Amino acid sequence: MRTPIIAGNWKMNKTINEALALVKEIHHGLPNPPEVEIIVAPIFTALNKVAEFLQDSFISVAAQNIFWEDTGAYTGEISGLFAKDAGAEYAIIGHSERRQYFNETNETVNKKIKAAFKHQLIPIMCIGETLQQREANQVEEIVCQQLTQGLNGFAATDIDKLIIAYEPVWAIGTGKTATPAQAEEAHLIIRKLIAEQFSNELAEKMRILYGGSVKPANSKELLALENIDGALIGGASLKANDFIEIIKTISY
Ligand code: PEP
Repeated sequence: MRTPIIAGNWKMNKTINEALALVKEIHHGLPNPPEVEIIVAPIFTALNKVAEFLQDSFISVAAQNIFWEDTGAYTGEISGLFAKDAGAEYAIIGHSERRQYFNETNETVNKKIKAAFKHQLIPIMCIGETLQQREANQVEEIVCQQLTQGLNGFAATDIDKLIIAYEPVWAIGTGKTATPAQAEEAHLIIRKLIAEQFSNELAEKMRILYGGSVKPANSKELLALENIDGALIGGASLKANDFIEIIKTISY
């Protein structure tokens, strides 16, 4: 039985006070611990304050990115060491916006996943195809490449806590959602690849989240699918009511 995860990626939004107000609203809107894991990924400047507020609660905090070196002359970067120090327990790695705007590659994703594990951060590894790749029937090829290269050098036992987020690039922030059938098909492909590249046991236990314009109106259908173990949510996670509503579709 895989415990579902609902994770909110707040991206470059919310001042410290706004982030605190949002997390308080989410926390107060969920009086009993839900039967799902809940994660929020605030902007780095608000991460520590949000983590302090959530200490000992059932909501965990993720960094939206980390750098692979620990310390040194890397102006503007934040490593796993500092993300952990600020209160993060998870790290989103290889989000498509990082790949698109900051030249992240499967190789840098690999280094960042190693760095996350080194600092006891659980990586949420993002993979997914562009529209062009989907239209060229390359979904399996692309996710296979992202998994093979991104997880190069790891054994099954090294990555038994890893979380994968399948996020078709064409569905992120666009309002276009993969149909439940498209999402389930991609998740099955990913689970099969994990079984082939690592082990059946790992494939069985790995949580694979769906991301791409998830909102209250479509979450129930997506989250009911056998191979979808939760969601990574951008836009809708910025509104406490929407985020809570999504959580309630698979809990209570
Ligand atoms: C995301 O940023 O990971 C995401 C899925 O965004 P949105 O829900 O806004 O599409």
